[in-house]
Amino acid sequence: MKSFLKYSKSCDFPIENLPYGVFTTPEKTNPRIGVAIADSILDLSEVSHLFTGPELKSNQHVFKAPTLNLLMGLSPKAWKEARETIQSILSENNKILQNDHKLRQRALISQACATMHLPVNIGDYTDFFSSVYHATNAGLMFADPNNPLTPNWKHLPVAYHGRASTVVISGTPIHRPHGQMVPPDATDPVFGPSQLMDFELEMAFFVGGSNKLGEPIKIEKAEDHIFGFVVMNDWSARDIQKWEYRPLGPFLAKNLGTTISPWVVTTFALEPFKTDNFPQDPQPLPYLRHSDKCNYDINLQVDITPKDGNVSTTICRSNFKYLYWTPKQQIAHHTITGCKMNPGDLLGSGTISGKTPDSFGSLVELSWKGTKPLSLRDGSQRTFLQDGDTVTMTAVCKGDTYNIGFGSCVGTLLPPKKL
Ligand code: MN
Repeated sequence: MKSFLKYSKSCDFPIENLPYGVFTTPEKTNPRIGVAIADSILDLSEVSHLFTGPELKSNQHVFKAPTLNLLMGLSPKAWKEARETIQSILSENNKILQNDHKLRQRALISQACATMHLPVNIGDYTDFFSSVYHATNAGLMFADPNNPLTPNWKHLPVAYHGRASTVVISGTPIHRPHGQMVPPDATDPVFGPSQLMDFELEMAFFVGGSNKLGEPIKIEKAEDHIFGFVVMNDWSARDIQKWEYRPLGPFLAKNLGTTISPWVVTTFALEPFKTDNFPQDPQPLPYLRHSDKCNYDINLQVDITPKDGNVSTTICRSNFKYLYWTPKQQIAHHTITGCKMNPGDLLGSGTISGKTPDSFGSLVELSWKGTKPLSLRDGSQRTFLQDGDTVTMTAVCKGDTYNIGFGSCVGTLLPPKKL
């Protein structure tokens, strides 16, 4: 497979990737759907007439929509046909776009000239807690060091219902939030800006299709409901979290902003990077059992760039494959009660930590509750985030002949707003 557009072997967006996003340009300010190819975007609203296969001929309007929800509402068969059509349009053997200079000018836009937007109107957002290394670290630091995992942890994918309204696109600044917290050695809470701001390295997937209220999505059908993945930073105020989370779980510590990367990488692009599922012991209950692979080898990285500094430091290298619970299990568990899922719902993995300290996916783990400061390359130290810090998360699958990149998930922590 070869595109008429040229790019290097390490490019995030080869013709094998084709992630979906929503963008605007200064000349045309209505949000529209595109796919990333090399350093360009193919504007699907300009080529919707080329989707003439059996699944899409009568559904061309989904490519003229301002979000991906309608496309996500179609079937996996339609998603596959869309991918094949886009690959054909961009292939070096196809002259339709290549030789039509006017169409090419309208439909191929430089990524550098585009502003990316939230790709989806997110109805609901759920955050899991699916890395056993992260859950163990949390238990070691804040619960019982002898029994770091709660009794339920290996029997079900623990999660909480998050706040969809505060999911933002990469590049959106986040203000340090105010809240209640109990200072060290105190018993009563105080009110003020969080002193323990953290990131959480996560990935998340968008749900495709839907189910009816009362009808669970069976594990055998769950993969049909995974549209694609993004990188996610679930910003967390640890001091607010510590005071509020018992007995009902996280609340305000997590609703100050959750950042996602702009390009949704489909399961088709990730298929060659499937890897063995994380070994599960004990075997989960039957409704959560599956033996086919639903795990991916995706390299993850977190960098911090201090304010005014152009020196960034890589502080974490992790991998999606460290997750204990699979996306299929997350869907099957989420809907076992009959909970309705809608196209475009966002399901976060939870912090993705590996086994070794350099693969921990949050500062509270990396600095071990602030007891082990990290040294940055500009000479400064961090236990938690400082105002002006920019957190950059990247994800890439490395193949022999091409990479599948996700682009980056970036956010800067700004000082608290005056109340
Ligand atoms: Mn989280």
